[in-house]
Amino acid sequence: MTTQPTPAWAETGCLLCGAPPAVGHHADCPGADPDAVDYLTEHLPGAVTRSWTMAGVRYTATEARRAAITALMPTMQWHQAGRTVSLPFSVGLLIKEIVPKLGVQRWLAAVGFHPLATVAVPDCGCTDPLRCRCDFDGHPHAYAAPDFWADYALLVLRLRRPQGWLDPWLLDIGTGAVVIAEDDIGNDPIPTNASIDCQMGWCDLCDGTRPAGEAARQRCTHSCHTADIPTDVQTAVQPGAEVGDEH
Ligand SMILES: [Zn+2]
Ligand SMILES: [Zn+2]
Ligand SMILES: [Zn+2]
Ligand SMILES: [Zn+2]
Repeated sequence: MTTQPTPAWAETGCLLCGAPPAVGHHADCPGADPDAVDYLTEHLPGAVTRSWTMAGVRYTATEARRAAITALMPTMQWHQAGRTVSLPFSVGLLIKEIVPKLGVQRWLAAVGFHPLATVAVPDCGCTDPLRCRCDFDGHPHAYAAPDFWADYALLVLRLRRPQGWLDPWLLDIGTGAVVIAEDDIGNDPIPTNASIDCQMGWCDLCDGTRPAGEAARQRCTHSCHTADIPTDVQTAVQPGAEVGDEH
């Protein structure tokens, strides 16, 4: 009996640094730093830098938990901000509440949500989220009644930034929303000489012009309008050339 290894669910080390409770955390563990904002940064394809937040570490501290969340990310249905959209009432309320709190109204380009994108989280009494293993295989809680598990909805905001976009991923935990991760997406700078609509990615709303001073309106030069350019101008544009670049 004594030779049996401790099952993973019965371990008590920190999920991030492995330090036992008697030690607390190793010096370089974000769990040891009350000011730590993120505990993990990933560089993903497409110039995406994903940061997993300490605020959401209870829900994301293991690879399995993060995998459950990242599996839902592509299912998001995007709704452009500033339009009448048919979000569930509770989600609409949550967004109305969280967006001003984050101070991002001006930059909010879109909201992503899917009614079936929920994460099952153990509704446990673990006081130290960095040591909770209630969702590990074989944990006695795995046999708990279904109502022990809470289903939290995943949603995402898309914010305009000078060089690209910032997508904060939120978990609706019932009493509010927690930012669990942030995707910093580069490689898509605000197009110059583009209308606000095109800057925000609302290209279908742009009438092809942008206000220029009091009187005149000037052409919006976002690349989405390439197809609208009269044929005589279009033939003068080299194939593949950025229309916005010629000045
Ligand atoms: Zn630690
Ligand atoms: Zn727990
Ligand atoms: Zn556009
Ligand atoms: Zn435009």
